[in-house]
Amino acid sequence: MSHEVDPIYQNLEVEYICQNCGTKVVPALHCRHPMHLETLNGTVEWVCWMGASCGNAVFETCCDAPSIPIYETVNV
Ligand SMILES: [Zn+2]
Ligand SMILES: [Zn+2]
Repeated sequence: MSHEVDPIYQNLEVEYICQNCGTKVVPALHCRHPMHLETLNGTVEWVCWMGASCGNAVFETCCDAPSIPIYETVNV
């Protein structure tokens, strides 16, 4: 596995619209870039572009079936 950080993770969306309920979801910033969703131990959480070992945060769901992109695990 490469330890290079894929630069796409530095330039992800600054806001998402849930395709299920239409709520605007704004990720927190971590290391100066917006966090993104990943599945960590079976739970969807916000993760820093540097990886979950740098920062993660609880995803407060907007509805029962949130439809927001979940990305591959970054920088493990
Ligand atoms: Zn970070
Ligand atoms: Zn929703």
